[in-house]
Amino acid sequence: MDRKSRYDLLNSDGDRRPRRICKECGRALASSYIGDTCQSCKEDAIYREVKEYVSENDVGEYDVAQKFDIPVETVRKWVQLGYMEYKTNK
Ligand SMILES: [Zn+2]
Repeated sequence: MDRKSRYDLLNSDGDRRPRRICKECGRALASSYIGDTCQSCKEDAIYREVKEYVSENDVGEYDVAQKFDIPVETVRKWVQLGYMEYKTNK
């Protein structure tokens, strides 16, 4: 007889309920949520790219927001928190 663990049952194609978790931190995601990592992990990943970009390019918050398709407020928040610095102070 085929004995399945509870985990297998949750992931089988049969009676599959929308049960999604962030692949980075394991936090539960809403079934309507798009993507497979949660908002904070997503921000985390973008943040690393942004930080590198900002340190290598002479750009401001609007350039960054546009390039990475993120809200200007998010960029501003990172700067305010001291997470990153612009190459030049404009
Ligand atoms: Zn996460």
